[in-house]
Amino acid sequence: MPQTLFTRSQNAFLTAKTLMPGGVNSPVRACKALGMSPLVVEKASGSFIFDLDEKGYIDYCMSWGAIILGHADPLINKALNDQMNKGSSYGALCEQEIKLAKTLVTHIPHLEKIRFVSSGTEATMSALRLARGYTGKSKIIKFAGNYHGHHDALLKESGSFLGEASLPCSLGVSQGFIQDTLVLPYNDPHAFEALAPLQNEIAACIFEPVCGNMGVVLPTFEFLQALCNFCKAYQILIIVDEVMTGFRTNFCGAAKDFSIEGDLYCYGKIIGGGLPSAFFGGKAHIMDHLAPEGGVFQAGTLSGNPLAMSAGLAVTSSMLEPDFYKRLQQKADRLLEPIEEAILSEDLNCTLNRYGSMFTVFFGLDSVTSYSDVKKQDQTRFNEFYKFLFEKGVYLSPSAYEANFMSMAHSDEDLDYTKDIIIEGLIRF
Ligand SMILES: *Cc1c(COP(=O)(O)O)cnc(C)c1O
Repeated sequence: MPQTLFTRSQNAFLTAKTLMPGGVNSPVRACKALGMSPLVVEKASGSFIFDLDEKGYIDYCMSWGAIILGHADPLINKALNDQMNKGSSYGALCEQEIKLAKTLVTHIPHLEKIRFVSSGTEATMSALRLARGYTGKSKIIKFAGNYHGHHDALLKESGSFLGEASLPCSLGVSQGFIQDTLVLPYNDPHAFEALAPLQNEIAACIFEPVCGNMGVVLPTFEFLQALCNFCKAYQILIIVDEVMTGFRTNFCGAAKDFSIEGDLYCYGKIIGGGLPSAFFGGKAHIMDHLAPEGGVFQAGTLSGNPLAMSAGLAVTSSMLEPDFYKRLQQKADRLLEPIEEAILSEDLNCTLNRYGSMFTVFFGLDSVTSYSDVKKQDQTRFNEFYKFLFEKGVYLSPSAYEANFMSMAHSDEDLDYTKDIIIEGLIRF
């Protein structure tokens, strides 16, 4: 029998598959749609991530956008080391929570009160419960291609919200869980008209102000205006899901860039500094409906965890430095402007969507504004392009439906090398 030689990473993945479903603890990490063995990580530092075979990659996944300073950032590491010696979890109010809450409420004008949780999923799930508790209404609106975490009520994709044909997008989600979830197409300002028969039963509308979870898709002004007008007219709470976009282009989020006035805001990813942490917040008179002040129950053993709070304080102090976002934007422009030029001048039959230091390339399309556009992309070309970059030591987020991210640790050298490889890949495939 011919002997196949597996790398250490491939062997580790084979072992992992015998122990964990698909070998992973979050499905996209398995790289199934890409048809390749996934990255198995040994360590990461700055802009680089290393596999078990000691091969380094310039990382543009950056833990799905959670890492904005770079891996193993010295400031975060110091904060974590200091906190470790004082204990890793208390299950009681601690000063670190108060300090971080103070920083956030002081610098983000639309937040009067916040609550810390441990994941973006928890933040959006709790914000929706709060919206229902506050309004006394039950239905919620979400948009096709927007992702808000894996809780049952939001695992519904189908556009036919009024018909019986709407299906959950996961097994195990029964009709009861999704019957109050109305799904509309993203970026369609006329979509709200169809909701007329239900408009007084809707508690909240949750959306990604800039989509990142179907790849980067920017909102149109008309869509945002229609969304806000509809919600204001029927006392529907606007929940801005900034779990990915929060702290990405400024200290607040996309709501600031697009002048969106929401009622509740959800944050996650970056604020944990690489630890499991997230929060939601808004006006005090709404937030005070949460227990123990009000009747909406919400709780968590590790919420406001002192390690996560310390990492959050370190990352926020960096992000509040003057010029932080200007420097990050310069990095994004250095990488992406030449790619945009090449796409146009060489007629490469693809499109680059970008927002600050986030970007996605869609193959075979010259504009992408909705989930139905995203689904028309050429997955085969993407897969070949992806593997080529991977071989050349450039690690993009491993899916055609995801955003890529830059961090403060990406050097000019990293960016210039990546630009050359991406352009070469786009020309080849
Ligand atoms: C990642 C993400 C979530 C879910 O956060 P988890 O920490 O993975 O639970 C929710 N909303 C948006 C917009 C996200 O990008």
